[in-house]
Amino acid sequence: MPTTSWHERAAALRIDARAFIDGERVDARSGARFDCLSPVDGRKLAEVARCDGLDVDAAVTSARAAFEDRRWAGKAPGERKKILVRFADLMLEHRDELALLETLDMGKPIRYSRSVDVQLAQNCIRWYGEAIDKVYDQVAPTAEDSLALITREPVGVVAAIIPWNYPMLMAAWKIGPALATGNSLVLKPSEKAPLSSLRLAELALEAGVPPGVFNVLPGFGQEAGRALGLHMDVDCIAFTGSTRTGKDIVQMAGQSNLKRAWTELGGKSANIVCADCPDLDAAVSAAIGSIYFNQGESCNAPSRLFVEASIKDAFLDKALTMIPDFAPGDPLDEATVMGAIVDPIQMKTVLGYIESGKADGARLLAGGKAARVESGGLYIEPTLFDGVDASMRIAREEIFGPVLSVLSFTELDEAVRQANATPYGLAAAVWTSDIGKAIRTSRELRAGTVHVNQYDNDDITVPFGGYKQSGNGRDKSLHAFDKYTELKTTWIQV
Ligand code: NAD
Repeated sequence: MPTTSWHERAAALRIDARAFIDGERVDARSGARFDCLSPVDGRKLAEVARCDGLDVDAAVTSARAAFEDRRWAGKAPGERKKILVRFADLMLEHRDELALLETLDMGKPIRYSRSVDVQLAQNCIRWYGEAIDKVYDQVAPTAEDSLALITREPVGVVAAIIPWNYPMLMAAWKIGPALATGNSLVLKPSEKAPLSSLRLAELALEAGVPPGVFNVLPGFGQEAGRALGLHMDVDCIAFTGSTRTGKDIVQMAGQSNLKRAWTELGGKSANIVCADCPDLDAAVSAAIGSIYFNQGESCNAPSRLFVEASIKDAFLDKALTMIPDFAPGDPLDEATVMGAIVDPIQMKTVLGYIESGKADGARLLAGGKAARVESGGLYIEPTLFDGVDASMRIAREEIFGPVLSVLSFTELDEAVRQANATPYGLAAAVWTSDIGKAIRTSRELRAGTVHVNQYDNDDITVPFGGYKQSGNGRDKSLHAFDKYTELKTTWIQV
C-alpha cells in the first residue's frame, strides 16, 4: 500500500466522536466537547464529547436496565458466542479504518496498528466468544443427602477505564471477558485516545450486542472517570492505567459501594542478560526491539537492562548498530517502525527523564532529543543510557517512552535484588544457557510474567498482570473470567 493512500484515507476520514449510550450516538449532556489532536502532525481530528457525572448516570442506568431485563445475560452462551464472533469479524472487515483511527489518535505506526492492534483486539473478542460455551460449572463433593452447585454469574454492571497506549487492545481485554460472561459494560477510554473505542461500540451493536449492554463515555479522569469510580450502581470497576490512578480507583471503590476493583498498573521491567546467554544477537535484538516498540509506551517494556559486565561492551556495540533502524518516521508510512509520542504532556515527561539521566551522570550513548520537529508532530529519538546507577530516577521510575537504561552486574544475586527493588512487578526476563539458573531466577523475580531467553512472547491464552504495585488482576486467558463473575453456591436437599 503506497504511503499516499494512507494519507488520502486519513484526509477523507469522517470521525464521529460523540458518546455511545443505550445503543445511540449522543452528545455529552452538558454539550461540552474537547479537541482531539493527532500527535502525527498536530492536526485536529475531532471534537470529542466531554462526558461527566450526568452522562455516567445515563450510561449506568442504561447498563443496569439491560442487565436486569436479561437481554444479554439471559442469552444462551452459544448465542453470545455467535454475536461476539460476528463482532470480531466486523472488526476485521473494518480493519483499515480501525487501524487508521488508532494511528492518528495515538501516533503508533500504521503497520502495527493493522497487524498487531486490530489483529490482537479482534482475536481477543473472538477467543472469549468462542470460549464461553465451553466453560462448565461445578458440583461440589458433598455428603450424599445434598447437592451443592458452584455456578458463575455475571457480576452486573462493569465499568472499565483504560489508558491510551494500546487503546483498542486494552478495550478488547475488558470487552471480551466482561461481555462473554453476560455483564453490561460502561467503558471510559483515555481522553488522549478515545476514537477506536467509540467505533468498537458501533460495530458491537451492528453484530447484535443489544443496546445498553456496551456503552462508551469519552472524557477526563477527574470527571467521567471519577464519577464511575464513585458510582453506587457500578458493581465492578476494571482499571488499566498508572499506579497512581490505580490507588485512587481502589480508594473510590472503598468510599462508595465497595465495588470489585481490579487494577492493571505500571511497570519498570528488568531484563537480565547473563554472560552465558545462549544467543547474544537474539538478546540484543529483543532488548532493543521491545523497548522501542510502541515508542516505549508499553507497560511491560524492558526499560531496565542488566548486562553481565564481561559481555557488556559486546552487547552495547551490537545494540548501537541496531538503534538507527528505530529512528522515528511518519506513522502513516508502512516502513515506519517507531511513531509519535501520544501528546505534549507525555513528550515533556519523557524529555524530562532524559535530562534527569544526563544530570545524574548516566552516559548518553544514543538519541536524547526530539525528532521530526518540522512535521508538527511529537517524536523522540530512540535513546540509550549506559552507566546507569540503581539510585537514578531513570532506573527507578516508569518513563513510558523510548529510553533504555543499562546497568551492569557481576553477581546474578545482586542483579535479581536490584530487579526486585522497585514498587512494580509486571514483567522481567533472564537470559542464560543454564536451565537451573533460569528456573531459580524466574522463581526469585517478583513479577507476573517472566521470560526466559526471549522477551514479549504473547498469546491470549496466558494471563497478564502484575505483582506488588503493578496491580491485582489478570487480563487475558480464562483467568480473566474471575474478574467479571461471582461464584454462587446453591445447596439442594436430596
Ligand atoms: P492514567 O492512570 O493517567 O489514566 C488511565 C485512565 O484513567 C484514563 O482513562 C484516565 O482518564 C483515567 N483516570 C485518570 N485519573 C483518574 C481518576 N482520578 N479517576 C478515574 N479515572 C481516572 O494512565 P495513562 O497515562 O493513560 O496510561 C499509562 C499507564 O498505564 C502506565 O503506567 C502503564 O504502565 C499503564 N498500563 C498498564 C497496563 C497493564 O496491563 N498493566 C497496560 C497498559 C498500560
